[in-house]
Amino acid sequence: MDEFDKICFVCKNKITENNWQLNSEVNLPVCNQCKDTAKEQKTVEEYLDELADGLVCGCI
Ligand SMILES: [Zn+2]
Repeated sequence: MDEFDKICFVCKNKITENNWQLNSEVNLPVCNQCKDTAKEQKTVEEYLDELADGLVCGCI
């Protein structure tokens, strides 16, 4: 029943209470391991590209 049922949008690992931050570009949670990494930036770009192209299909 807790609200920390979040997943890091970069590595898809489950986030625990104190190891994440919100990425303000995509408004999604990111774990401290991925925060400020090149991988995070790449995922942000891909995510924004998808939004821009209207290709949000829910499949990966
Ligand atoms: Zn992560």
